[in-house]
Amino acid sequence: TTADNGSETLFERIIAREIPADIVYETDTTIAFRDIKPQAATHVLVVPKTRYRNVAELAAADPRLLADVIATAGKVAELEGLGNGYRVVFNTGADAGQTVFHVHAHLLGGEQLGPFGR
Ligand code: 5GP
Repeated sequence: TTADNGSETLFERIIAREIPADIVYETDTTIAFRDIKPQAATHVLVVPKTRYRNVAELAAADPRLLADVIATAGKVAELEGLGNGYRVVFNTGADAGQTVFHVHAHLLGGEQLGPFGR
């Protein structure tokens, strides 16, 4: 399903299996697959199957679906053996470098991560 939030993105095509992705976990409402350009030893994108442009719009429209995204990130962290810790990041807008306007959580871990910011 697709929320009325503008044009299609790459992630709808991954959800529809029109483009291949290394899917690590899936629920009725979310899908998790490896980032094509990993920024950490483990770098998985967690995506709600319904599209919102960013995490704030998702939170306002469907807080339960946001909770599903976070829960899926936690499950993937478990599956990936990230017991030593991990980070969940939602890039939002240009200054954060958001390039895909279908909200997604970056799950990062598997090594000691660097500091936030620039
Ligand atoms: P953003 O910058 O919007 O927060 O994150 C988009 C992410 O999608 C980037 O980390 C980028 O590497 C990843 N990405 C872009 N194209 C593809 C693709 O075709 N497949 C996968 N698996 N990841 C992609």
